[in-house]
Amino acid sequence: MGVAIRITNLTKRYGDVIAVDNQNLHVYEGEFLSLLGPSGCGKTTLLRCIAGLEEPEVGKIVIGEHVVFSSEEGINVPAGKRKVGMVFQSYALWPHMNVYENVGFGLQNDKLPKTEIRKRVDVVLQDLAMDGLGDRYPSELSGGQQQRVALARLLATKPAVFLMDEPLSNLDARLRLDMRSEVKRLHYDSGATTVYVTHDQTEALTMASRVAVMRKGRIVQVDEPREIYVRPGNLFVAEFVGMPRVNLIPGEALPGDDGTLLEFGPFRQTIDAALPKKRFVAAIRPEDIDLSFKPGLGKVEFRVYAVLATGPELFADLRSGDTVVVVRLASNVRLEMDQTVWVSIQPGMLNLYEIESGSLLSAWKSEVSETAGEL
Ligand code: ATP
Repeated sequence: MGVAIRITNLTKRYGDVIAVDNQNLHVYEGEFLSLLGPSGCGKTTLLRCIAGLEEPEVGKIVIGEHVVFSSEEGINVPAGKRKVGMVFQSYALWPHMNVYENVGFGLQNDKLPKTEIRKRVDVVLQDLAMDGLGDRYPSELSGGQQQRVALARLLATKPAVFLMDEPLSNLDARLRLDMRSEVKRLHYDSGATTVYVTHDQTEALTMASRVAVMRKGRIVQVDEPREIYVRPGNLFVAEFVGMPRVNLIPGEALPGDDGTLLEFGPFRQTIDAALPKKRFVAAIRPEDIDLSFKPGLGKVEFRVYAVLATGPELFADLRSGDTVVVVRLASNVRLEMDQTVWVSIQPGMLNLYEIESGSLLSAWKSEVSETAGEL
């Protein structure tokens, strides 16, 4: 797969704030890459640098074959000439133009003949189920319809690269869900390389083919959604992604003759891998903890502290001494407050992180990657 966008050593500052801190990123042709991270981590700035709406201090950006920015070579191609299409959180429609004119606006700029413009606008409006609304003005449309017009405008110009900045966050929850499917379908049908900024982990994980998680101006992990969720590369990603939050339990690895004993909270597990003696933080997702109503080998006694039913599933807050774990269960499991239960951890789903750096323990990483196929 070719590289559609190549970002090298990019830095963008606003005064003392380093919004993008010497970052590298490759976006492959046709992929849907999501930039995910908390507010202020620099994702919008990175997207705007690609679009040409911000000028970085240092670095290089290549889109397709064209160098669009290079601090070294003194190149900064203006936004309008980068052949990228952008959709923002605010739909940025022209209020004095009707739907038809808004969608065709970019094409007029490209000096296309009127009949061609008409044809293209008709096709995209039909694709987005907006035919019949061409004469309406933005004020006569719902939020969802306005966002569709913004998407139609993007599609009409047929850019090779779509840049989207939280395009669905102004919509209500239900409409957002529908529009996620539409944007995903639109990406599939168009085959356009897409970079999609969001702070919403569900949006990133459900829509993207790869997710780049950002923190404080840096990309801390780029991976497929399942890897980001199952094998976060560091504690920040482990905690940021997942609802409810991942369970974190500090512990220690104790090497022995028959492998390594992992002690964390009330858990004791011996694994075959040889790990050095080291303190760690164990991370385990709520659905990777097994619960039973009887004691047994490797099972640890916990008390039910609270049960939170959501409808399709329930979350049980369990406690043992200082250790608190949240377990995800099917909605038909019956649990009483203060009931005694026994829990065990699926070892393949456990991740161990260094306390100081927060990185996945390297010895653990190679161990789990060998067994990854069994997960
Ligand atoms: P959000 O999800 O809240 O939009 P973000 O991850 O997109 O956040 P950016 O908008 O890229 O983050 O901002 C990164 C950092 O740069 C923040 O500290 C922000 O305050 C700062 N910043 C962004 N734009 C400007 C600006 N025009 N002037 C000064 N500082 C800015």
